[in-house]
Amino acid sequence: MSQYPQAALILSAADARQFPHDGGAEVAFAGRSNAGKSSAINAVTGRRSLARVSKTPGRTRLLNFFELLPGRRIVDLPGYGYATASAAERASWPPMIAALARRSSLKGLFLIVDSRRGLLEGDAGLIAWAQDAGRPVHVLMTKCDKLKRTELAGTLLAARQALVDSATVQAFSAVSGAGLEEARRQLDHWLK
Ligand code: GDP
Repeated sequence: MSQYPQAALILSAADARQFPHDGGAEVAFAGRSNAGKSSAINAVTGRRSLARVSKTPGRTRLLNFFELLPGRRIVDLPGYGYATASAAERASWPPMIAALARRSSLKGLFLIVDSRRGLLEGDAGLIAWAQDAGRPVHVLMTKCDKLKRTELAGTLLAARQALVDSATVQAFSAVSGAGLEEARRQLDHWLK
């Protein structure tokens, strides 16, 4: 199963008490704003506009849970890197993220990184969060269609050297489809 035609938003949580029942399997997606997270979610699920709802007014600051199949979910975390959230919104994130890490259904984290920019401030925090929780991290270096082959090789090498054993890293493009099968295999493996 590598595509999820039945995928749908099941809830947008502003508080950990609203999270869905902690059963089955779920995979988190995180990344800086504009890194290509929504495009990656749409591509790997095979649903062209699934994650668009995460960008609708009022939902960009929430944890958006999508059900791909019964008991199989994606959690779309708020994009970070822009100081546009209110203090109240920012204060609500650490408790929610901490609560997410305690869910036994959480199987892994996809970290979305713009391959033209590489790992930046904020990315390391998410990797540490997943590591502390004992969850694996898989980095999608997105928009790889924008890089020349040698540039991409350098970017991948730099990310792998920086992360060593803390994450696996692959090139990805929602536009060209590069790396799509590899990303789908990872998602299916975690959701199995
Ligand atoms: P998000 O804020 O992380 O959810 O990012 P989006 O998925 O909305 O993408 C941000 C911008 O990057 C949009 O203009 C997308 O069209 C563009 N984008 C996303 N993925 C790719 C990609 O793989 N290749 C290219 N060339 N552009 C992309």
